[in-house]
Amino acid sequence: MKILLVDDARSVVQVMTSRLASYGYEVAHAANGQEAVDAFALSAPDLVLMDIEMPVMNGFEACNRIRALEATRQWAWTPIIFLTSSDTVENLVTAIEAGGDDFMSKFVPEPVLNAKMKAMSRIAALRASLSMANQRLLDLASQDGLTGLCNRRSMDGRTNQLWLEAVARCKPFGLLMLDIDNFKKYNDHYGHQSGDECLRKVALAIDDMVRQANTQGLSTSAFAARYGGEEFAVIVPNTAEQPLKTLAQGIVKAVSHLAVPHEKNEAWGHVTISVGGSWLDPAPGQLVTLFRQADARLYQAKNLGRNQAVMQG
Ligand code: GH3
Ligand code: MG
Ligand code: MG
Ligand code: MG
Repeated sequence: MKILLVDDARSVVQVMTSRLASYGYEVAHAANGQEAVDAFALSAPDLVLMDIEMPVMNGFEACNRIRALEATRQWAWTPIIFLTSSDTVENLVTAIEAGGDDFMSKFVPEPVLNAKMKAMSRIAALRASLSMANQRLLDLASQDGLTGLCNRRSMDGRTNQLWLEAVARCKPFGLLMLDIDNFKKYNDHYGHQSGDECLRKVALAIDDMVRQANTQGLSTSAFAARYGGEEFAVIVPNTAEQPLKTLAQGIVKAVSHLAVPHEKNEAWGHVTISVGGSWLDPAPGQLVTLFRQADARLYQAKNLGRNQAVMQG
């Protein structure tokens, strides 16, 4: 457990630090409320032990600011225990009203301090496992169950965010829309289970190509998503037109090279994909245009015989 100990009196700090360290806790120190808020923002301790009367900023004000900081972060809550010189009822009420969780005399007997810290470290462990479980849930909620790619909902969120950044920084933005060729026939001929397996393979091939392209400087934040059914999208912020074309053609080849048999995709005999690409200098409100253009190019790729990429321009 990481404890932030806040007190302007060096004698209190010395005594408390050596006691807490002897229980095996990691102790950081701040000498006033302002330092406490700064240290809290930087190091995210598991527990704050806070004096009330201090120069620069008192403990109640620091507590308020820490709570305000926490409100900006999801699931954050750190116990704050006020350290007081006298454990009167009035002090207790004020401390809790000010956003503290408990209060404790600075001269608390050794066994009481030890016991309270044990309770606090249990809470810290619980918080850590809650926050891991929450992160896991967030990951699951943003993933497509079948392919493991980003799902449509999280794609929309990420795309909007990246688009706004691109508009603000005047960086060109690319989009690929991809659709497996004659996939209905694949399902009809090989069954839905095999169809799912095929979708997984194609998704993996697309994702690999995008990751590889990112490492080769295509973009720093390009990502692939399952757009719906057997359709995928690749969002490519901050890219040049040529690398986007190269990626589109690379994906068409990579899917073809998977050589997944597909008798009913008659021209090829294996699974293939068509891609429509669009690329533009973003302006507010034009994200819809980007999707519409990519979709139109995809339609063209289908009409031109499938298993190919058609790019805007
Ligand atoms: P085109 O080349 O013009 O794209 O033809 P298509 O047959 O691929 O196009 P269409 O949109 O008519 O068919 C898409 C099919 O994809 C329909 C549906 O059976 C199948 N599909 C969509 N989602 C899934 C899925 O999650 N699993 C499986 N196995 N099949 C799916
Ligand atoms: Mg003081
Ligand atoms: Mg389709
Ligand atoms: Mg299709």
